[in-house]
Amino acid sequence: MSQEKLVKLQCQQCKKINYWTTRNKKTIEKKLEFKKFCKWCRKHTVHKEMKK
Ligand SMILES: [Zn+2]
Repeated sequence: MSQEKLVKLQCQQCKKINYWTTRNKKTIEKKLEFKKFCKWCRKHTVHKEMKK
């Protein structure tokens, strides 16, 4: 049985959702946070996991 969940990654500057990722039971430890390129801000920004 798969425990993988889809997680949205939201740009903290423009609040747009730019990436999706999956997490499973083993990776649920803390909030996900990535520095990724946002095409709306046109630069690298912090993307955080969005709740629902
Ligand atoms: Zn952005």
